[in-house]
Amino acid sequence: MPVEIPTFKLNNGAELPVIGLGTYARKADPGQFRKAVEDGIDAGYRHIDTAACYKNEEVVGEAINNKIKQGVVRREDLFVTTKLWNDRHGEKDVIPSLKESLARLNLEYVDLYLIHWPMSVDSDGKDMKLDFVETWRAMEKAVDAGLTRSIGVSNFNEEQLTRLLQQAKVKPVVNQVEINPTLTQHKLVDFCKQQGIQPVAYTPFGLISDARPEFAGKDVIKTDPKLGALADKYGKTRAQIALKYLIQRGIVVIPKTFTPSRMVENADLFHFQLSDEEMAVVESYNIDHRCVPGLPFKNMMNYPFTELL
Ligand code: NDP
Repeated sequence: MPVEIPTFKLNNGAELPVIGLGTYARKADPGQFRKAVEDGIDAGYRHIDTAACYKNEEVVGEAINNKIKQGVVRREDLFVTTKLWNDRHGEKDVIPSLKESLARLNLEYVDLYLIHWPMSVDSDGKDMKLDFVETWRAMEKAVDAGLTRSIGVSNFNEEQLTRLLQQAKVKPVVNQVEINPTLTQHKLVDFCKQQGIQPVAYTPFGLISDARPEFAGKDVIKTDPKLGALADKYGKTRAQIALKYLIQRGIVVIPKTFTPSRMVENADLFHFQLSDEEMAVVESYNIDHRCVPGLPFKNMMNYPFTELL
């Protein structure tokens, strides 16, 4: 039986499932992406996260359309997110870029279109120094044109969001940023919530994930017995405790896995509740460490991060 994943209501009334399937992988063949999305939908995932820069929209769309044809889901049951890449921030480029994504996905609309990063960078890697407020004007037009149901941002800091909110006609529904037990982001999460912007956590496992061997030594969370004992108490894994911690903070999570058993595991979070003391145990692993610091953009005008570990 597919799991039932609850939703959070966004500021425009849309319902966003609190667990989505991340689809980014540095190295994977198209068949792996297709199978992951098909397996995810079979397991009960209704929220799928992709991006133009993941170069997998075609196969993600194939998987979605296969599952619609098979009668497993209807289009309206799904919440599909894709993202505008940094080289298409020019006001005249946004709608064409979204139309290209829709053509690759073979969908008539997406549920959410995000500005992937606040910086604009041309295809040679040069800072274009465009104002994201101008980009946002075109994002708003994409809603009017029916190409996307909602619009939002990703990797925006508080100052950038404040400026955007002062100028926007349509408020961003989400800010998708890295949040996990090793980067808890309380200040930004609180700000987003105060403004009615839903925080969405990418890289939700942080340093728990084996996908991050480059940070060996900082990954005490993988072996620390306190977290192990907490996971054992509920018959869960460390990974599940990390996701549960985020959801209990009112944050949407988009874990990526190609492993069907982990898809089920990552969505099996709704029959237990962490106490305040247990939430504090998870918090204690925070070291403000960014797994995704966006270093190639570090010296650019709208680079969003100041603190880097
Ligand atoms: P995650 O924190 O989701 O970690 C993914 C890794 O964790 C994979 O190696 C996966 O392995 C492993 N994993 C998954 N489930 C479990 C589990 N239950 N137990 C142990 N290991 C597990 O990192 P991502 O960086 O992929 O982030 C998730 C998604 O967020 C991306 O796929 C993408 O959609 C989005 N994202 C957005 C960004 C942005 O700038 N907006 C930046 C980065 C990510 P396996 O697949 O082998 O099971």
